[in-house]
Amino acid sequence: MNINEPICRDASKALFEVSKTLFPGGVNSPVRAFKSVGGTPLFIQKGDGAFLWDEDGNKFIDFCCSWGPLIHGHNDPQVFEAIVETLQNGASFGAPTKHENNLAEYILSKIPFIDKLRFVSSGTEAVMSAIRLARGYTGKSKIVKFDGCYHGHVDSLMVKAGSGLVTFGTSSSAGVPEPLAHETIVLSLNEVDALEKCLETYKDEISCVIIEPVPANNGLILQDKSFLLALRELCTKHGILLIFDEVISGFRVAFGGAAELYNIYPDIVTYGKIMGGGLPVGAYGAKKEIMACVSPEGPVYQAGTLSGNPVAMAAGLAQLKKCGSENFYVNQAKKTTTFVNEINSFCSEKNLPVELVSIGSIFWFSFNGKKRIQQAAEIDSDMTNFNKLHGHLLNNGVYLGPSGYEVGFVSSVHDHLILNEASKIIKQGLISCFS
Ligand SMILES: *Cc1c(COP(=O)(O)O)cnc(C)c1O
Repeated sequence: MNINEPICRDASKALFEVSKTLFPGGVNSPVRAFKSVGGTPLFIQKGDGAFLWDEDGNKFIDFCCSWGPLIHGHNDPQVFEAIVETLQNGASFGAPTKHENNLAEYILSKIPFIDKLRFVSSGTEAVMSAIRLARGYTGKSKIVKFDGCYHGHVDSLMVKAGSGLVTFGTSSSAGVPEPLAHETIVLSLNEVDALEKCLETYKDEISCVIIEPVPANNGLILQDKSFLLALRELCTKHGILLIFDEVISGFRVAFGGAAELYNIYPDIVTYGKIMGGGLPVGAYGAKKEIMACVSPEGPVYQAGTLSGNPVAMAAGLAQLKKCGSENFYVNQAKKTTTFVNEINSFCSEKNLPVELVSIGSIFWFSFNGKKRIQQAAEIDSDMTNFNKLHGHLLNNGVYLGPSGYEVGFVSSVHDHLILNEASKIIKQGLISCFS
């Protein structure tokens, strides 16, 4: 393997030329366009286990795993079988099926703080619905979010902090009306005092606080449990609903996500990604008093043509049952810690200002040296070194999400052999980044 030789991207380049005429930026979701790392995005031909192949026939160890959903890798035999078997009876009916009951019963039997769920088709839809539910249930309209947490492309959450002393947000995307953005207050993570002051001041207007309890969409900016606990207590004290957006952390850091890991329970939770076994599924859930507000039981309208799609439900159930096996999360975390520690010791030895931050089977390359990052503003915005690393890894058979703000995922089929191989390639890559 020649570490300097770029892989062939001819087939991907040709496909990208066509896709650019079909989709904005040539893609159906922005980060796929490789804009931050540069170069042509790879068009994927297939995946199997921990591996991906692009249309030029290059093979990669995949740490993107479809941005998290594939916790058992590509084409897991049980998930595959569940999909095929269910599909034989038809793809969608727009009427209830037993598959919805099966998946909901399984989830509810293992997650103690929710009584009922509603299935939707994406994480964004889950969050959007959860926010509406919080507003409908409390009769209040403002919401609080944290800088550095991503919750999908929901209008109310495409908001960044206002400048100066103004706590009310301004929109971070064209097309989001300022009066709506103004209903969202943006705070920094890990700052209890500011949170306390804000909730105290606006408690009569704030319906909910939404947080990624494991912030993993803008680097991996792990919070102290004490911050999450304070948040829980303040919300309870002021009659504000706490929403844990566990679209990425649910079924990932523990079966019951961060809520289980930290033993802190939200009022409303959102799920997605892993829950659908690679098919488009999201959900939101809460205690029955809160869920009783959702239509047709209550006045908060929310619906979906393909919600609870039987094929997706069956795929999700097959996937989650494997996650529910004994010691699954312990083993996932152990394997990931070994992988991460190995690379981190290497970086210390060679004095490289890089640290792999991890929790469960999520990891992130922090190019901030040993500094512990707990707020979005602390992340070094210069991603030159990550971008170099990304290019090196692609040329040598390791696929990471194409942005230094994105995390990587270890699946249950990334075994020690595969992780050792990846670790070797990553070490070479880091050396070449800094030489
Ligand atoms: C991925 C993600 C979303 C959005 O989910 P989509 O399925 O992409 O709409 C929302 N919240 C969090 C925490 C996520 O990681």
